[in-house]
Amino acid sequence: MEKAEITEKQRLLLEKLSQAQVVLVGIGEEFNEGFEDIGKFPELMSALEEVDTNPTLEWTVPFLEKCYLTQHNEGRIIDAYAALYELIKHKDYFIVTTCIDGNIGKVDFDKERIVEPCGSYAALQCSKKCNDTLVLPEAFSGLVYQAISDGVGLDSLERPVCRFCDAPLAFNNILCEKNYVEAGYKSQWEKYTDWLQHTLHKELCVLELGVGMSLPGIIRWPFEKAAFYNKRASFFRINEQLYHITKELENKGISIAMHAADFLNGYDLQKGKTEGLS
Ligand SMILES: [Zn+2]
Repeated sequence: MEKAEITEKQRLLLEKLSQAQVVLVGIGEEFNEGFEDIGKFPELMSALEEVDTNPTLEWTVPFLEKCYLTQHNEGRIIDAYAALYELIKHKDYFIVTTCIDGNIGKVDFDKERIVEPCGSYAALQCSKKCNDTLVLPEAFSGLVYQAISDGVGLDSLERPVCRFCDAPLAFNNILCEKNYVEAGYKSQWEKYTDWLQHTLHKELCVLELGVGMSLPGIIRWPFEKAAFYNKRASFFRINEQLYHITKELENKGISIAMHAADFLNGYDLQKGKTEGLS
């Protein structure tokens, strides 16, 4: 897209956001953590080398990922979350994200207004799903972190297991596939569907950010439906590749062919261009 076109679409989004009574945000694949900055954490790098030479330590990788996610608090994606926060912080919003990395929690969004239906690294579950109990991982993650920072090695650790069936514990997210315990996000999902029901007769701005087609039933299709049935909706689809808008939404849909993080980071928030959104 040309620079002038980007500026015009940024202006249009600001206008629609300022008019909107409710803002529905979907965050997808373009925001997934890519672990690109792993090289900045030497102790994690050497831990991964240890795993490479000893495949029985493969189980520690998700815990090392959690260590990375806990320590890594900068970069293009975090900046984009901060920009999004500035855009919607005074609004009645709800965010649905398919990301499991929890990076969205590094910005001041109201956690009561976020649902993560694909789970995260915030809790552990039985990998065999013998029950629905979720366990906080902090005590164990602390041991992993201590092992790698003290240099005692990962093989000093014991793999955490389910207290009911002795199967290994796994992080409560979709990487558990058919054994994923969905109880972790259900109460937020109920809040979200209830919130969405009350948006029908309100001025709605739907903002779909970097959402691809890997899980279209969570964001893409329901968001299209929400925009279609709401007569006062505007619909923004921002995506580098999958930016096309369906025919049914062509009157209210704005397609932006750009990486959603770059689009958000393009706002000059320091100069107060977002003033007046409250
Ligand atoms: Zn179990």
